[in-house]
Amino acid sequence: MREAATRFIQVALPLPLFQTFTYAVETGLANPIAVGSRVVVPLRNDREVGICVGLTDISPLKRKPKPVLESPDAQPAVGGALLDLCRWMADYYVVPLGVVLRTVLPAALTGANTPTPARKTRRIAQIGAEIPSLIERDKIFARAKQQRAVFELIESLGGRALVENLNEQLDFSPAVLKSLEKRGLISIVDEEVERDPFAQRGGLSSKRLVPTAMQQHAIDEMANAERGSVFLLHGITGSGKTLVYIELLRRIVDERGQTAIVLVPEIALTPQTVDRFRAAFGDRIAVLHSALSEGERYDAWLALKRGDKRIVVGARSAVFAPLENLGAIIVDEEHESSYKQGETPRYHAREVAIVRAKAEGAITVLGSATPSLESWSNAMAGKYTLLTLPDRVGGGKLPGIELIDLRKTAVDYTAMAQGGVDYGAVIREPLHHAIVETMQRGEQSILLLNRRGYSSFIQCSDCGAVTTCPHCSITLTHHRNPERLVCHYCLHKEDPRPDCVRCGGRNLRQRGLGTQQVERLLSERFPAARIARMDVDTTSGKWAHTRILDRVAAGDVDILLGTQMIAKGLDFPNVTLVGVVDADVGINLPDFRASERCFQLLSQVSGRAGRGAKGGKVLIQTRLPNHHAVRYAVAHDYVSFVRDEMEGRKDPLYPPKVRLANIVFSGTNEEATAKLAIQAGEWLRDLITTHAADQIAVVGPAPCPIERIKSRWRWHVLLKSDQPSELTRVPRYFMEKFDAPAGLRITLDRDPVALL
Ligand code: ADP
Ligand code: ZN
Repeated sequence: MREAATRFIQVALPLPLFQTFTYAVETGLANPIAVGSRVVVPLRNDREVGICVGLTDISPLKRKPKPVLESPDAQPAVGGALLDLCRWMADYYVVPLGVVLRTVLPAALTGANTPTPARKTRRIAQIGAEIPSLIERDKIFARAKQQRAVFELIESLGGRALVENLNEQLDFSPAVLKSLEKRGLISIVDEEVERDPFAQRGGLSSKRLVPTAMQQHAIDEMANAERGSVFLLHGITGSGKTLVYIELLRRIVDERGQTAIVLVPEIALTPQTVDRFRAAFGDRIAVLHSALSEGERYDAWLALKRGDKRIVVGARSAVFAPLENLGAIIVDEEHESSYKQGETPRYHAREVAIVRAKAEGAITVLGSATPSLESWSNAMAGKYTLLTLPDRVGGGKLPGIELIDLRKTAVDYTAMAQGGVDYGAVIREPLHHAIVETMQRGEQSILLLNRRGYSSFIQCSDCGAVTTCPHCSITLTHHRNPERLVCHYCLHKEDPRPDCVRCGGRNLRQRGLGTQQVERLLSERFPAARIARMDVDTTSGKWAHTRILDRVAAGDVDILLGTQMIAKGLDFPNVTLVGVVDADVGINLPDFRASERCFQLLSQVSGRAGRGAKGGKVLIQTRLPNHHAVRYAVAHDYVSFVRDEMEGRKDPLYPPKVRLANIVFSGTNEEATAKLAIQAGEWLRDLITTHAADQIAVVGPAPCPIERIKSRWRWHVLLKSDQPSELTRVPRYFMEKFDAPAGLRITLDRDPVALL
């Protein structure tokens, strides 16, 4: 027997190893160590922050364990319930516990030092009141190409941009900005870094709304539910789901003194929802948005842990908020794929929310107008309680939707082939007419095109070659301002070439259509219209989304054009027209969820129209008017869509009929990557025939639909099973035992949202 004078602890470290590490606790540390405490420990020749996950009197090591260097906190950073949740995630997603713990803690706690929030001024370039028209610009900038590029970059960033960011995106000398300023085209100001602009937002009138009978029924059902219940709140767009959440939280937080988590897909895109929560709960609420500095995030975390704030609103990672006495977790727009993390640990916040809520005796509310097929089938199977809000509040009607068949109307494709895209080919007559009428009535339009950039891609008319990214198997997208070809995966940029890379031909044509191009066409057609564009390119500034949406709310925008980011929770009563420029973008992607995404997008964007007394209508341009995703979106018929779509998930089997784990192999050497995937496939088949028999199926290996990303070739093996435990056991054994040679990487994606 070893003597027990020293005690030992098991420490989880953020390393890619499925094990914990033993360290000795010696006297002289600043704070006592308990399970959940942060510790600083020696690792190789460095120091690393880990979490104590176990105490023991006996060391399992042959050699003498190294001592813990520091114990920085008086209280454990990770509470018992949260640690259990992390253990579940580590097991389910097959990820080392230390890696999970690093994800759930604020970054400020995982570095060796605690940072102090930085506060300084920054330099902003801003376009003046007078915006020259495109024709004027040709004159003004005739001999100043760089000035034009910078000016238009600022413009495309919403009229305001950090000078620092401009320099990152464009190479230009300081003299360019000075000249623009001298000519009165822009102004340059130094501004205090905003603390938390969300906190300063006026919020809405605090006038308290009275729930309708339907809303009240839903609120009562949930408030009186058994602990651990899960609800699917299926409410059409405009049915008042947010008020249901708010009134439910009043019961749970105000009356019962419990705490709550509200998850939204992306804070920047849902300022109106956040404003409503803030108006209702004031400073009892912590809003975790992506623009917070590390220090501010840490402040919020502390306030939640201490119980100073009792409600948190945030994206995916807010599900880990350190709240005790949890009463409810609300997952708004539960079908959104942004709830799934794209890197290790690849968790789905909706699934984590349910596991956490059940473990802590809280209820979960999944809300959506277009629930994911997974949640819907769980509701049908009786695992979740279905609550329905079938009507718009105040008797409002869902807008009428009409299709415009892009195959029928004649279009001058020769003009398109010359590179000059014809407005009439892009915006067909009925949609054009509707835009004109809407503007004449002083009302607003939203136009959706789910493809950013200028023209989608460039193709050689002689040999058919499409310009692709040198690092990814992805077509490069043409952007203007500045003119470049950009890879939307790895952000590789290059200048457009005059000739074809493959055959040297000079007949390169622009094909496809992006938001930038449509913006240009609209502004040429409607020179007096106030047009705003919202896509990844115009929203790189931290508050760009909010600024654009605030302009729409204030009535300063006639036409809001954008990608799928304009389809979410916006509630503008003066928007009476929604137009979908091309419904078919993405519908043919080689992914089993492509139709589901298309249906959701069309339903969600249609829901933006006619939210006020004036009503509204929706026009959808498509080449696939008979596709079930398009057809049922037009009919506002979610249930029929699900019925048809479920049929398509039967053969081959796809979720929710079966569960998936996708194992992706990647490497810079194509042959080695393929070889590894083939070996792994055989290894898995052997394992399964000897151990698991027919409970799990191995599909592949095969190259991923996107064969190459960021210079790495990609192959995958898909595991399918209807037994969740098998998809834990087999991949875990595989990840622990199957080694990848140096340079090759294996990643596991449990319950993938896309197989691209
Ligand atoms: P959803 O999220 O379901 O699309 P919202 O929560 O955005 O719907 O509600 C739509 C609109 O109806 C909002 O402007 C909201 O303020 C209003 N509203 C919701 N419930 C009520 C109510 N009970 N009485 C009056 N207005 C309401
Ligand atoms: Zn690329």
